[in-house]
Amino acid sequence: MKRIKEQLAGIRKQGLFRELRTLSGPQEPVVIKDGRECLLMASNSYLGITTHKEVVAAALEATANYGTGSGGSRLISGNTVLHEELERALADFKGTEAALVFNTGYMANLGVISSLADQGDVIFSDELNHASIIDGCRLSRAKVKVYRHGDLNHLESLIAEELSGGRKLIVTDGVFSMDGDLAPLPGIVELARKYGAMVMVDDAHGTGVLGANGRGTAEYFGLKEQIDIQLGTLSKALGSEGGFAAGKEELIQYLRNRARTFIFSTGLAPGVIAAALAALKVVDLEPWRRERLKENANRLREGLTAMGYRVIPTETPIISLLVGEAETTVALARALDEGGVFAPAIRPPTVPPETCRIRVTVMASHTPEHIDRALEVFREAGRQVGLI
Ligand code: PMP
Repeated sequence: MKRIKEQLAGIRKQGLFRELRTLSGPQEPVVIKDGRECLLMASNSYLGITTHKEVVAAALEATANYGTGSGGSRLISGNTVLHEELERALADFKGTEAALVFNTGYMANLGVISSLADQGDVIFSDELNHASIIDGCRLSRAKVKVYRHGDLNHLESLIAEELSGGRKLIVTDGVFSMDGDLAPLPGIVELARKYGAMVMVDDAHGTGVLGANGRGTAEYFGLKEQIDIQLGTLSKALGSEGGFAAGKEELIQYLRNRARTFIFSTGLAPGVIAAALAALKVVDLEPWRRERLKENANRLREGLTAMGYRVIPTETPIISLLVGEAETTVALARALDEGGVFAPAIRPPTVPPETCRIRVTVMASHTPEHIDRALEVFREAGRQVGLI
């Protein structure tokens, strides 16, 4: 314990100590956090459907009919018609031949990357990719070449010098989780074609949000066909739990046989699966949610920029306010909290050192009044810590 105590003291000294915050209710614009009411500006439930009547009803009905747990891994006894219906629906949604559901987006990245790349192969990975991609790369035992964020020239220079005969895999977030910007997918796809590489896009934050029909980053860029593996999560805009990979039938068959995070873990609970299925229908039937989400994001982004915050320019519901070092970022988060806005500080190892920030997200369920109230608190808090 002595070493653990010393390490904890070190984490505290750097201003990087983390604690859990506790909500007593669902992901709604106004939540009770640690016993106090506040505006939730930190949820990935972008479409605001974790409390949608039909989504909740579907989860309850599936639980009543199938019970609370799936009882086994998918390849043994934990596979139900609901799981298969969801995989068909996800493939249709993404416009691919097939899809495979994993228990989380994290496990999907681990399972897919470690199945596709092995010793002798090379993975090209954006420096700001999500931790689960980084961990998938580590598990794969392939050589990993990290390219500068969104830098196609750097990516090309790394691929061009790679003359080994192994498989080449380019992997990127579609929407970067902590910056909210988009990967330059058209350029990535072009390089992949030129150098014979596979492309995998983790669209955790684009699915249900981007593109005319909410299909994600690939639809936004009009690139569905050229992306070999579209990865996603059911836990953000779709308001449920789980992750998935979508692509060609044979790729999915291969993953079913090789991806250890799929094979060796109990299938998701029927209620969770049914909620995701119902959520996919909501994406189609209620396009106003995407519109509202965009309006809310624009209103907040413009307001914060006008106030003088350093806002990373994006077109997604992720709005990152760059601060720099941890101490001021934590002070700003605390001032926001005291003002009734829940938007926590993001620090290393989630983001690179000296790029500490407040990551603000909006939901379709926020009203313009919620956004304006949040802006007032941001103004007051920013002044209090001397940032604006
Ligand atoms: N990929 C990205 C880009 C993410 O932001 C996240 C969640 N933070 C994940 C994967 C993991 O998804 P899940 O939460 O479903 O495990």
